[in-house]
Amino acid sequence: MLSIKAKIVIAYTFVFGALLTGFAMLTYAAAYDNEVAKLDARLESHADKIATELEEDSHEPGFPSRTALDSIQTGGLPAVKVRLLTLDRNVVFADPGFSLESDVKWKKGTVSNAQKSTAKIARKKIRIMQWPVEIDDKIQYLVQIAAPMHDVEDNLEPMRVLFLVLIPVGLMLSGGAAYLISVLAFRPMMRMVKTAETISATTLDARLDLPNVKDEVHLLGRALNEMIDRIDGAIKSQRQFVADASHELRTPLTIMKSELEFAHRTAKRSKLKETIGTSVAELDHLSSLVNDLLTLARLDGAQLKLEIAPIRLDEMLVECVQAVSGVAKRKGVALKLFIEEAVEIRGDQKKLMSVFLNLLDNAIKYSSKNKKVSATLTISRGEPRKALIVIKDNGPGIPQSEHARVFTRFYRGSQSRSQTEGSGLGLAIAQRFVELHGGQIVLQSAEGRGSTFTVELPVSDDSRPGVS
Ligand code: ADP
Repeated sequence: MLSIKAKIVIAYTFVFGALLTGFAMLTYAAAYDNEVAKLDARLESHADKIATELEEDSHEPGFPSRTALDSIQTGGLPAVKVRLLTLDRNVVFADPGFSLESDVKWKKGTVSNAQKSTAKIARKKIRIMQWPVEIDDKIQYLVQIAAPMHDVEDNLEPMRVLFLVLIPVGLMLSGGAAYLISVLAFRPMMRMVKTAETISATTLDARLDLPNVKDEVHLLGRALNEMIDRIDGAIKSQRQFVADASHELRTPLTIMKSELEFAHRTAKRSKLKETIGTSVAELDHLSSLVNDLLTLARLDGAQLKLEIAPIRLDEMLVECVQAVSGVAKRKGVALKLFIEEAVEIRGDQKKLMSVFLNLLDNAIKYSSKNKKVSATLTISRGEPRKALIVIKDNGPGIPQSEHARVFTRFYRGSQSRSQTEGSGLGLAIAQRFVELHGGQIVLQSAEGRGSTFTVELPVSDDSRPGVS
């Protein structure tokens, strides 16, 4: 599909080209007619002289003779040829090469007036004039004189060359001007497109730059800005609703949990104890889902602020591994920790800890018995310096096609849905937390080959332990 800019350039060039060509053709035709008229005038005067000479010689012996006309000046006519015809169109005499009449179309019947015609003889354009010869006040012969028209064409050569140069140059200039005009006209629109491309659900406070001139582009931009206002309002109230609902649900859930735990402790019948135990587990799942929803709603509404403080990543990772070691042991998964060196960064202790706990929890959750899970802390050698926390497992792995989707909300792999508990919100939250710290989570995994999640966090030079 052609862009609007290209369409404008093509249409403009086409219309301008048609106008320019039309103008050139009309001008050329007028100049041509003018040159032919000049040639005709000279032919007319020459024919007149011949007719007069013939009339004067009409009583001479040997009349009519071609040689009697030799003395007549041609008046600058080039290579002019003459022939004399009777009124029945029998040739009385003719110059060599002027014997064909097939090409010349004369008006029938009229011989009393001068007649002109253009013919092609031996592939050359010839202008022919027919003139009545009156003897004793009676038309008795017709004299025809012919002259080549190359002078006419030669005289118009500069004009032809001028047009051949002028038209392409004019078209190029008009095409260039059309392109420039369309670029200038679309510039404010392209600026709006660039801003619109950066606007997403999380950056809805951005607005399109409106051009100062109140033209159609300004109106379009204003309408789009008003639309973003409305979408922004709707999304904000929806986020507020999720945040309020999750917040309101937390207290009753906590009360229900403590009531059920009390009931679990005091229940006598084993069947009832078992039922209450299952309910407590489900309630735990529900509570963590509500907490995750509240976290995401606050993240979206930019209500969640980082509580930045110096953090020893090595110590944090040890703590996280210890926290999940019980679960790993129960599952029969071997948990290993490698710390290359002590690393201090500035960040939010709680949020980063929840990231590592989530990754470790997933690594154990998706590994079967006797598999290994490792957590490693290193510092990248390149600039800028980064702390790399690698959580690696030998579990089922994640197919390449799902790599981007595992970080989206509520996405759970098809096997995970049926075999493990979860909400599909853990990685979405972890990714946002890491991004808030200026880092990223990189996933390397293939089906059946285990998964490696690498958390990259920026390390400032003055945050090395021992460096003050
Ligand atoms: P949840 O674990 O609650 O389902 P997450 O957001 O933590 O939600 O993970 C999303 C999905 O990513 C999981 O359902 C699972 O399919 C896949 N996944 C995450 N971590 C791993 C892992 N270590 N091994 C295999 N699959 C994983």
